Amino acid sequence: MYRLNDKAKELNLYSPVSERFRIHLDANESFLTLPDTVMSRITKAIQELPLNRYPDPTAEEACQAFSRLYGVERGCVVAGNGSDELISIIFNVFLQKDEAFATIEPDFSMYAFYGQLSEGRHVSIKKEKDFTIDIDNTIKTCNNEAVKLLIFSNPCNPTSIGITAAAAARLISGVEALVVLDEAYMDFWEESLLPRFEAFDNLIILKTCSKAFGMAGIRLGFAVAQQPLAEALMAAKSPYNVNAVTQCAGSIVMEEKDLQAKALGTILASKAQLEKELRVMAEKSGSFTLLQGHTNFLALEMENPEAFYNYLKNAGIAVRFTAGFIRVTCGTQEENREFLQYAENYFLGDA
Ligand SMILES: *Cc1c(COP(=O)(O)O)cnc(C)c1O
Repeated sequence: MYRLNDKAKELNLYSPVSERFRIHLDANESFLTLPDTVMSRITKAIQELPLNRYPDPTAEEACQAFSRLYGVERGCVVAGNGSDELISIIFNVFLQKDEAFATIEPDFSMYAFYGQLSEGRHVSIKKEKDFTIDIDNTIKTCNNEAVKLLIFSNPCNPTSIGITAAAAARLISGVEALVVLDEAYMDFWEESLLPRFEAFDNLIILKTCSKAFGMAGIRLGFAVAQQPLAEALMAAKSPYNVNAVTQCAGSIVMEEKDLQAKALGTILASKAQLEKELRVMAEKSGSFTLLQGHTNFLALEMENPEAFYNYLKNAGIAVRFTAGFIRVTCGTQEENREFLQYAENYFLGDA
C-alpha cells in the first residue's frame, strides 16, 4: 500500500471562500470589469492566436508591456502564472532543505505554505502591536538565525499596513538573506521600491495583475530583480508557465494606461467611502479598530471576527477572517452600502 510521506501528509488545503455569495468582498479583487472596447480587442487578438502551438516561454510581449509600464529593464523581468506561482518557484530555487526562511506575521499565508513545502525551517517574526515592522529587530533576527530567504508583503495582506520605501531599503540592506518584497498592493500606494530595485543584489520584487488591474482571472504576475536572480528564476520555472491567452490579454491591458489610472481612482474612491463610514462606526461602537492602511481592502481588528463573518455570511456577503481580523475588499457603491448596513446593524443594532 502506498503511504504518503510526511511532507504530503502535513499539507493544509488553501481554503478561500469557495461558495458563491450574493456579494463578494473577500478576495481583494477589483470590482471593475474591463470596458467593452478593451474586451473586444482582447477577444479579437485571441482569435488570431495559434493555440496549437506552445506559448512564448519568455512571455516577451507581456514582459515588455510590464517593463514599459513600470520603467524597469526588460532583462530584469520574469512572468509567472500569477505571483503565487513565482513565490513557489522562488522557494524552490533559492531555499534548500533545512535552510531558514523568515516571515513577519501576520502576513500572507502562502509564504509559510511554500516554505514548508520546500522543507525550510520557518523563522516567524512578529509585527509590532500597530502592525508595523520593527526593522532593527527583523535584521537582527534574520542574521542571527542565518535566514536565507525573507519574504513579506508591503503593504501587507491582511493588515493593510505598509512601511515606507526607505524603511524597506534599510531592511534589505541590513540582512544577508535574499529578500522577496511582495508589492501586490503597491499600485494603491506610493512607496514602491521598484524604481530603485537595481541598487540591491539580494532583492526580488513581486507584482501582480490580480489587484489594481482587475485581471485576477487570467493569472499573471511578475518578478523583478537584478539579472543574476532573474536568470535563475527563468531557469527554474517550467518553460510554458504563462499560457498564450494570458500573455495576450495581459499585454493589451497593461498598454491601457488611461484605463488603469481611471480604475485606480474609482477603487480608491470606493475605499475612501467605506473607510469614512467604518471609521465613524468604529468610534461609535467601540467594538473594532479600523486600521489605517494603503490597500484596496480594509482591516478591522476585533475580538471575535468569526461571529461577524458568520453574520455577514447569512446575509449573503463574503469577507475574509483571519486571526483577530475581518478583511473587507472595497466594492461597488451598492456593495459597500449593503455591507455598511449589515455592519451597522451588527455593531450598533441595540443603540
Ligand atoms: C493577492 C495577492 C497576491 C497575488 O497573487 P496572484 O497569484 O498574482 O493572483 C500576491 N501576494 C499577496 C500578498 C496577495 O494578497
